[in-house]
Amino acid sequence: MLQSTLICRTCGRNYSVSEKIWRCACGGLFDLVYNPQFDPDLIKKRKPNLWRYREAIPIENDSAIISFEEGFTPLLEINIAGIPILVKQEHLFQTGSYKDRGATVLISKSKELGINHVVEDSSGNAGCAIAAYAARAGIKCDIYVPESTSPAKLAQIESYGARLHKIPGSREDTTRAVQVAAETCYYASHSWNPFFFQGTKTIAFEIWEQLGWQVPNVLVLPVGNGTLLLGAYFGFQDLLIAGMISEIPQLVGVQAQNCSPLAQAFAEPLSQFSSVSSSATIAEGIAIAEPIRAEEILRAVKHSGGRFVTVTDGEITLALKDTMHSGFYIEPTSATVIAAISKISGSLINQKVVTVFSGHGLKSTEKILSLLNHKFQP
Ligand SMILES: *Cc1c(COP(=O)(O)O)cnc(C)c1O
Ligand SMILES: [Zn+2]
Repeated sequence: MLQSTLICRTCGRNYSVSEKIWRCACGGLFDLVYNPQFDPDLIKKRKPNLWRYREAIPIENDSAIISFEEGFTPLLEINIAGIPILVKQEHLFQTGSYKDRGATVLISKSKELGINHVVEDSSGNAGCAIAAYAARAGIKCDIYVPESTSPAKLAQIESYGARLHKIPGSREDTTRAVQVAAETCYYASHSWNPFFFQGTKTIAFEIWEQLGWQVPNVLVLPVGNGTLLLGAYFGFQDLLIAGMISEIPQLVGVQAQNCSPLAQAFAEPLSQFSSVSSSATIAEGIAIAEPIRAEEILRAVKHSGGRFVTVTDGEITLALKDTMHSGFYIEPTSATVIAAISKISGSLINQKVVTVFSGHGLKSTEKILSLLNHKFQP
């Protein structure tokens, strides 16, 4: 029998996972405490999707699972700045980004809770994923996005039948708008809701299995709200607690220099988060000025022995062009890790390094077109 509990990070209050809540009565964020299990012999026999780690995903009833048989993305070796890097092909999901990992678990949980209407806010890809899985589940869905979101992502969200709300102003204005809606609706938030991270954590399990049940030395990931970085951290922690591995990889978080609050806080002596000024970046998927789980992300990177790297829009553009010239069509945000690896390549020699392509290039046609037309000169 799977037993799991929600615990408030602020006041420590416990809640049952059968309650329809996404944050504590005190306003605090939830941790989900759970006892994950792994049986490699059993895992190997199952279909190649992320649900093969069934005993590590806290959904009680199989009948609630909403899935496109997502996950188990290829881990391809690519040469970057003269060194071999293994790249998880996370742009190959049903909706074109790794956000499907979080959506399959969060929408399955919503189904299990009997929820029939969810709201979510996103700079694009999380909205696409939640909208698609809600459609598959027959759950009504409202998605709030900043007005400036890529047209391809807006079209995708509406195509799934979700109600789209375009909010003028900043990403933070969008968050404020959705929180009003979330007072009467279940908030399927990729940053607040702990079940989203219970899905993104499966990337750690897949890397572990694909490396022959081993962990890499270094994992380089793009970070805004940290759904991928914290997810990977939780996944490796699960493996560590279950005795499957003896240490976790160094986590290297990559931010766009124009919006790098976490990298800046990490560089401070006490690693205290405070909001910083930010400006526009072509890495729209990680342009988060006030990440809600900032303290947690900083602690995870520190605990792993990792660090942050920032990259400029010029460096991202060059990395994107190089990557596309080698046959991979990814969105600009996804090129941040390639730019970062080039920058720190000297420290990665003889290390087993894994990174990801987080989103598909078809998401950003208009940005890539203007890049081809030389409007994005470094
Ligand atoms: C969501 C996303 C990321 C990571 O963003 P977080 O805010 O840290 O979750 C990276 N790349 C793409 C393409 C994304 O959609
Ligand atoms: Zn609380």
